[in-house]
Amino acid sequence: MTPPIRTCLGCRGRVAKSGLVRLAWNSTDGVVVVDAGQVLPGRGCYVHPGCADQVARRKLLGRALRRQVDGEQAAAVLAALAATAAQRPA
Ligand SMILES: [Zn+2]
Repeated sequence: MTPPIRTCLGCRGRVAKSGLVRLAWNSTDGVVVVDAGQVLPGRGCYVHPGCADQVARRKLLGRALRRQVDGEQAAAVLAALAATAAQRPA
């Protein structure tokens, strides 16, 4: 069985989604959240933890989620993700 393939928002690389982190939009709170279980409803996107930095720099999250994303809040989530990448090389 082939694993589901997703595209990384940062590098556009196509990989098994287990190698990516899903980010989802929490419409209740109006924030971007890390969907660790990859199960949250609604629009999501996938990034390599190591690509989180460039996603933040290029402000790609709002476009991917089609939401008015708070740049600072999104950057904080992405920075936390990038920090996990430093501990666990992608
Ligand atoms: Zn990537």
